Amino acid sequence: MLDSIANSSWFVNADDPQALTRLLDLAEFTVSGVEYDARLDCMIVLCQPVWDVALCPNCQQLSTHVHQYHRRVVRDLAWVGRPCALEFSVRRFKCAHCRRPFTEVLEAISPHGRCTRRYEQQLFERCRDTTIQAVSRQEQLGYKLVEGIYYRLAARHVAVTRPVRRLGLDEIALKKGHADFVLILSDLERSQIIAVLPERNKEALEAYLDSWDAAQRDAIEEVAMDLWLPYRLAVEAKLPSARINGDRFHVMKNLNDCVTTARRMIQRQADAPTKQQLKGCRWLLVKNQDNLTDAERCKLEQALRASPMLAQLHQLKEQFRAIFETAADRTAAASQLQTWIATAESSGLQHLAPFLTTLRNWWEPILNYFNDHITSGLVEGLNNKVKLIKRRAYGFRNFEHFRLRLLVECHGVA
Ligand SMILES: [Zn+2]
Repeated sequence: MLDSIANSSWFVNADDPQALTRLLDLAEFTVSGVEYDARLDCMIVLCQPVWDVALCPNCQQLSTHVHQYHRRVVRDLAWVGRPCALEFSVRRFKCAHCRRPFTEVLEAISPHGRCTRRYEQQLFERCRDTTIQAVSRQEQLGYKLVEGIYYRLAARHVAVTRPVRRLGLDEIALKKGHADFVLILSDLERSQIIAVLPERNKEALEAYLDSWDAAQRDAIEEVAMDLWLPYRLAVEAKLPSARINGDRFHVMKNLNDCVTTARRMIQRQADAPTKQQLKGCRWLLVKNQDNLTDAERCKLEQALRASPMLAQLHQLKEQFRAIFETAADRTAAASQLQTWIATAESSGLQHLAPFLTTLRNWWEPILNYFNDHITSGLVEGLNNKVKLIKRRAYGFRNFEHFRLRLLVECHGVA
């Protein structure tokens, strides 16, 4: 967080006529006085420009001929705990050389800004840590003004791009229970979100990858993704040399979905006593066996005894999970997975058919996981943060704002 006072040690003599100027610490201004406005509860720092010349933006000659002044008041960092504003005259020059009029450009304030840049930076950082609403209330600034500053600075901060070697593709739902997904691209090595796209289709991803230059695209060695064909097609088209890595958590999720579908059907067709025994086993079935409590294990065993078909499915699911936990390398994993597929096929469990198809279609990407064990789980890990952002930003008016929020908060921007 910025302070109104510089970090290095210094001393100001109150008798020094330059004392206030040194306190303000803005190279372009000399302070002629400080006034306290009790009605506004605001410190007004009266300033004058240090230089009596300005550079003509048209012909780059120095001009000394001022032909207009207009008064300007901009907010600055708080002074002794009170809101503070700088009051000064902005000068309009007339260039003696090219005859054009121009307004002087100030380093400390953006051309039409209502706050100094250093104050904008502080507002931005505070918005990032809390909310736009809280900051506008605390600072007695309009919501629109603070919002505008936040998004302007956010866009500038996230424009930084660095070569990415391991790209993660994942998605999050904008609203709970909505089929409204956005695609998140992340740098898996640095654990940072690098882009948020409004749609999760092939065209959107291709267009984004096209916006990178060839060197950026070539830098990507690996892409981790869930088993979603449009991503794969886009990556194969735009990053032909990148290795595709099927995210293990999504592979597991696919299998769990099959188990859930099967459980539903079994439950529907069961007689009344069996139904009773199967009740409440929905999550126990898909949960990692090692994480069950004793009571849960007991309940699950009862359900599995009631339905041999369910028991068989559950066993296959746990065997599959074990391969991901224990296979020593890619070769071992390939052979274990092949054995698993043979067992699953001979089990006659039709519910596994879609998963077996997925396994065959995504064989290489799934095996690639065993090369270096990367996953796109970053976004999963960020889920709580995303939820918090969504809650805070209750009333995000558009996707762009949501995108910037996500990028700023999950980008490690200093
Ligand atoms: Zn000029």
